[in-house]
Amino acid sequence: MEKSIPELFGSLVFTDKIMRDMLPKDMYKALRKTIDNNTHLELDVANAVAVAMKEWAVENGATHFTHWFQPMTGYTAEKHDSFICPIDKGEVIMDFSGKELVKGEPDASSFPSGGIRATFEARGYTAWDPTSPAFIKDGTLYIPTAFCSYSGEALDKKTPLLRSMDAISREAVKVLKLLGKTDVTNVLTTVGPEQEYFLIDIDDYAKRKDLIFTGRTLLGAPAPKGQEMDDHYFGNLRTRVAAFMHDLDVELWKLGIPAKTKHNEVAPCQHELAPVFDTTNVAVDHNQLTMEIMKKVAEKHGFACLLHEKPFAGINGSGKHNNWSLTTNTGENLLNPGKTPGENTQFLIFLSAVIKAVDEYADLLRLSVASAGNDHRLGANEAPPAIISMFLGDELTAVCEAIEKDEYFGKVENVQMETGAKVLPHFAKDTTDRNRTSPFAFTGNKFEFRSLGSSVSIAGPNIMLNTAVAESLSFFYEVLKDKDPERMDEAVHKLVKDTIIKHKRVIFNGNGYTEEWVKEAEARGLFNLKSTPDAMGALIAEKNKKMFIKHGIYTETELQSRYEIRIENYTKTLHIEALTLKDMIQKQFAPALMGYIDDLTQSALSKKELGIEEAAETQKDLIKRLAGLYDKVVKTTVNLSVDVMKAESMEPDIDQARFYHDTVLADMEEIRKYADEAEPLIPEGYLPYPTYEQILFYV
Ligand code: ADP
Ligand code: MG
Repeated sequence: MEKSIPELFGSLVFTDKIMRDMLPKDMYKALRKTIDNNTHLELDVANAVAVAMKEWAVENGATHFTHWFQPMTGYTAEKHDSFICPIDKGEVIMDFSGKELVKGEPDASSFPSGGIRATFEARGYTAWDPTSPAFIKDGTLYIPTAFCSYSGEALDKKTPLLRSMDAISREAVKVLKLLGKTDVTNVLTTVGPEQEYFLIDIDDYAKRKDLIFTGRTLLGAPAPKGQEMDDHYFGNLRTRVAAFMHDLDVELWKLGIPAKTKHNEVAPCQHELAPVFDTTNVAVDHNQLTMEIMKKVAEKHGFACLLHEKPFAGINGSGKHNNWSLTTNTGENLLNPGKTPGENTQFLIFLSAVIKAVDEYADLLRLSVASAGNDHRLGANEAPPAIISMFLGDELTAVCEAIEKDEYFGKVENVQMETGAKVLPHFAKDTTDRNRTSPFAFTGNKFEFRSLGSSVSIAGPNIMLNTAVAESLSFFYEVLKDKDPERMDEAVHKLVKDTIIKHKRVIFNGNGYTEEWVKEAEARGLFNLKSTPDAMGALIAEKNKKMFIKHGIYTETELQSRYEIRIENYTKTLHIEALTLKDMIQKQFAPALMGYIDDLTQSALSKKELGIEEAAETQKDLIKRLAGLYDKVVKTTVNLSVDVMKAESMEPDIDQARFYHDTVLADMEEIRKYADEAEPLIPEGYLPYPTYEQILFYV
């Protein structure tokens, strides 16, 4: 019999319930303590968990286990070991120890480690993260782990994420205590990432070297139809796509990923999937898995799933919306406006902490979403601009203005003040979702960071966000900690007011796509970091370094290594794009174009021989036009080759990245301009790869 969905959901996950059922009571309790309070895990507990895990995994068809980790490539990595252990007489048993569960030693030398590789031993180890559940995929037990060097430097994205979650929890708990909330011992950040993607036919994909090597098309004239009719967004699903989405949901559900919403997006062939939110590190793991499983399920259905931020020029690219909030261990959402004045004050404190964080660390938030792929989206009138501002909505903005003018709390200087604030409305969802152009929007009881690219690991943006808000809260704590508890309300109100006045420049409710906003943002002193090389410096800027080190998120070495890796990743990406374009022009586009020119010429000449003038003359005009474009394409490709050679001879640093951006990318765009002008003039059948029209408008 088919499993019902509740039975199916999480059937491949080693859940809390299974652990409770399988583990001895004291062992389960000890494990829960480790998970909930972040305490050290004893070896006997690890052994007990390992036994239960193996039993469950083998029962469910697993033969191998892997420590699953997230190196700084932004992808996930795994190395599989089987459970088999030879015993006497050529027999084996299935074995798995606490030691194997807790610690693994993959060879770290092939993963990017930036400065760390130069300074430290290349070896690394993986350490079990018991806060994210293990699961079975393709016959292997996957154990989520953090990846560190032997000297303890984080070599991955999970370690700093967990550190940032600790930091924000620590600081939030301190502030809540001052507000009289003493029962809160832990504050979790929660994330619900909405994921956009494209699905195209796998045969089309296989014919395009640019999609295969770079994830995006480097050439391609627009189809006669694009997205101008707005007929794809929320439109009917194609039968094939619907079947894919159903299969995808089932695969995700089995892994305990609560896939919830699916629909067509704005561009043709573009779709979206959103899960129900979860604790940040679980959400990060789940999003990585979602991206991987999307690709696999797509293949089964004869599709290629494109996660690149800009697979096709001229139509929308793909992003990811990072819905983010703060929840206490007592189950309260701290970004939910309350029903009582006390709750409102608490809400306003956390709201102002986020405002301050986004204003002061906008450069880091921008950096966290910067990539060669996302550079094609940000500021391109389809995604938020590169300027990080915040949208609060009309009602909440009015509340902030009232606070500024002392109309909300009453005069703060007045010692006899009433402590009661006006009751805040529960903001209706529709009032907050109006502005799609804002990079960072308040949406009722959470913030939605919308600048993320579709392929990025959401770990980075959440590390920045958590740490920046932790820093605001730490500052708030310092301001409030010595205040008379009797007069705490007054102090809090003053703090909220001061914060709003100081940081309101980052609040912008208008249209982020306009040129006026760019000017105004400049006048307000906001960052406008247009490209990845522009944004890169934020990672090692003094103020940011100070914050990371203070909260124990990154050491100086770890920051430096990430800076180097980011630069390297950017230049390598552009390098591969440049070589791919050159290859396609030389081996495919230029020969195809010349083939057509030759055929036309033959045809015109034979007409001439017969004395037919008319068609021969128009053919001659076309030949001239095409020959001119051929010349330009070939000459600009020569320029590209020369500039790529120049780039290769440079030191691998930020100047090289800038050169790739300013020169190599510009060369590529020039080639494309001429090639795309010629493409629509070339009859079907000459080009060895499918055009936009064929890829995007299949049936
Ligand atoms: P949309 O943005 O498309 O209108 P929703 O606002 O309903 O959709 O939800 C978008 C995402 O936000 C979902 O993944 C949802 O689970 C998530 N979300 C809702 N509440 C929270 C929260 N408190 N913390 C984090 N994410 C949340
Ligand atoms: Mg949304």
